[in-house]
Amino acid sequence: MSPETHLLASWIIAAKTTDNPRDCRLVTLAGILPDADGLGLIADLAGRWFGGKQTHFYGHFHHYLLHGALGGILIAALLACFARRRWRVVLLALLVFHLHLLCDFVGSRGPAPEDLWPIFYFGPFDKDPMWVWKGQLRLDGWFNRYLSVALFLWALWLPVSLGHSVVGVFNRRADAVFVGVLRKWHDAWARRREPRP
Ligand SMILES: [Zn+2]
Repeated sequence: MSPETHLLASWIIAAKTTDNPRDCRLVTLAGILPDADGLGLIADLAGRWFGGKQTHFYGHFHHYLLHGALGGILIAALLACFARRRWRVVLLALLVFHLHLLCDFVGSRGPAPEDLWPIFYFGPFDKDPMWVWKGQLRLDGWFNRYLSVALFLWALWLPVSLGHSVVGVFNRRADAVFVGVLRKWHDAWARRREPRP
């Protein structure tokens, strides 16, 4: 699935299962960090644009380097170093990491029907087993779009009571402003629903 869908799903789980913004941020990161193995795309594009040596980091490493057991262990261990409640963060990080794999397995197909993304659970050491689902849904298909919209709306709703939002994963100050705006919208909406005398 797309990084923003992973981000929203991971943040919602983190927001529901952690009791402080720091651990919430760390658990959310566990759901998006697997896609760091796709950052080779930047080097590939830079090589193409600037006429340097053409590389294929994206094709070689995306869904191979950090989309398996090793990636899960590394990511969970790294995030645990910064956690308040270490073991809780390790377990939740492994949970959202595997949810990321499941979501990619179900819905990350490219435009062509044969453009499937497999999961190599023992990557980057072994391409066996290779898990692939022939019915994999399109990344830009209706299911992914509706799911992203639903998660987005949910991620707008939760901060009203929680006091922090997905923006806090990246910046706490911007998050405070964003949550303030959401609460104002919510209050205005609640007032409008009140019966008029
Ligand atoms: Zn992924």
